[in-house]
Amino acid sequence: MPNPDQYDMVIIGGGPAGATVGTLLADHGHRVLILEANRLPRHHIGESLMPESYSTFQRLGMLDKLGAANFPRKESVQFVSASGKDSQPYFFTDRDPGAHSVTWQVPRDRFDQMMLDNARQHGAEVREGVRVSSVNFDGDRAVGVNIGARGSTEAIGAKVVVDASGMSTLLARQLGIRQPHETLKNGAIYAYYKNAKRDEGRNAGATIIIQTADRQGWFWFIPLPDGLTSIGVVAPPSYLFTGRGDDPLSTLEEEIGHCPGIERRLADAERVGQAFVTSDFSYRARRVAGDGWVLIGDAFAFLDPIYSSGVFLALKSGEFAADAIHDALQAGDLSGDRLGSFGPRLAAGMQLIEQLVHVYYDRSFSFAKFNKAHPECRDHIVRLLIGDVFNNDVGKVFDVLRDHVTQPATTGSEGMATA
Ligand SMILES: Cc1cc2nc3c(=O)[nH]c(=O)nc-3n(C[C@H](O)[C@H](O)[C@H](O)COP(=O)(O)OP(=O)(O)OC[C@H]3O[C@@H](n4cnc5c(N)ncnc54)[C@H](O)[C@@H]3O)c2cc1C
Repeated sequence: MPNPDQYDMVIIGGGPAGATVGTLLADHGHRVLILEANRLPRHHIGESLMPESYSTFQRLGMLDKLGAANFPRKESVQFVSASGKDSQPYFFTDRDPGAHSVTWQVPRDRFDQMMLDNARQHGAEVREGVRVSSVNFDGDRAVGVNIGARGSTEAIGAKVVVDASGMSTLLARQLGIRQPHETLKNGAIYAYYKNAKRDEGRNAGATIIIQTADRQGWFWFIPLPDGLTSIGVVAPPSYLFTGRGDDPLSTLEEEIGHCPGIERRLADAERVGQAFVTSDFSYRARRVAGDGWVLIGDAFAFLDPIYSSGVFLALKSGEFAADAIHDALQAGDLSGDRLGSFGPRLAAGMQLIEQLVHVYYDRSFSFAKFNKAHPECRDHIVRLLIGDVFNNDVGKVFDVLRDHVTQPATTGSEGMATA
C-alpha cells in the first residue's frame, strides 16, 4: 500500500478542471501532483467559453494571460433558424458592461497549455505523458493511484484523489456509478475553416448556433485566432452516422449544403485539416465525492455542448472542489460528505443549464418568437447564457418558458446524491 502522505492530493488529468483545482490547492499551500496522460499542447474540442468563468480566471491569475493572447473576444451568442434567419444576438454587455461580461474563444491546445503552465507556476507538480490506470482504495477510502501499464505499474499515495480525467471518467467507471442521460444523446462532426464570413463589430466573436434545415441537428460557428473558425454539426448518432458512408467529412459537407445559415457563412471559406468525430452522449456520476475522492469537470458529468458550458463547469467544479478539499483537510475530515459539500450547489446550477438544453431541443421552440412574446425575459436568458447559474432567481424564467415547449424537461439532476 503506498504512503497516503506522499502527496496531499493527486489529480488525474491536466485539462481545465485538473489545472484549476491543482492551481487553487497549490495556492492553499498543499502538495499537489497532476498526472496528465498526454503531452501538451494536444488537440481538444470545447473552444467557446462562458463569461461567468471570469471570477475563476481571476483567482487563477489567468486574466492578464488570456487578455494578452490573440483570442477573439466573445461578447454574444446568436441563434439562427432552420431557414437561415438570424435572430437578434444576445449581447452580454447589454445587461452589464463590465469586463467580466466578455470572454474568449480559445484554441484548446494553447488554452489548456496556458492553464497547466499556470498550475506549475503556482506550485503544482505536473507530470505529462503519465496515464493513471486505476485508483487505489483501502476499504472504501481512496488512498492514491496506479500509473503505468500491466507489468510496470507504480503506486502513488495521496490523502485525496481528484478525478479530472474528462470523458474517460476513470473513477466513475471503476466504481460503476456513471449514468448515461436518458434523452440527451448526440454525436458531432467538426472541422476548421479559413475565411468563414464573420459579422462586423461586437458580434464578430459571437458563438452562432444554427439549426439545420430539417431541424435534426444544429451547427456551431466559433471564431478562433488567425482567421480560423471552428464549425461542427451536432445531431443524434442515428441521423449523423447511420447509412451515411464511412467518410465523416462528406457527411459534414452534405449537412453544410443543407443548412442555409452555415452555407452562406462558408461560401468563400476553405477547410484546413481533417474532420473530427466525437460522441457527446450526456452522462452524470451518481456521486460527486466519496471518502478520499472527488470528481470534477467531465469526469463528473457532461452536458450537451449546445451552450458551451463544458469548460465553465470544469472551472467552477474545480474551484468549488478546491475550497471543499482545503476545508476538509483543515478539519481533518476527508469523508465523502465533507469533500462533496459543493455537490448540491453544482448540481443546481447544472440543472438550470440542462433545462435550457431541453428547451432548445423542443422542436416547437424558437428563441426569436420567445423574445418577441416575452421581451421582459431577455435579461434572464442572457444570464443563463453567460453562466450566471450559481445565484438563485435566474431559474424563474422557466415558469414562462414552460408555456413555449411541448416536452416537459426531464433532468438527471434531481435526487443526485453527493456523497
Ligand atoms: C462536440 C463537443 C463540443 C464542445 N464544445 C464546447 C464549447 O464550445 N465550449 C465548452 O466550454 N465546452 C465544450 N465542450 C465540452 C468540453 O470539451 C469539456 O467539457 C471540457 O474540456 C471539460 O474539461 P475537463 O478538464 O473536465 O476534461 P478534459 O478537457 O477532457 O481534460 C481531461 C484530461 O485528462 C486526461 N486524462 C484522461 N484520462 C487520463 C488518465 N487515465 N490518466 C491521466 N490523464 C488522463 C486527458 O488527456 C485530458 O487532458 C464540447 C464537447 C463536445 C463533445
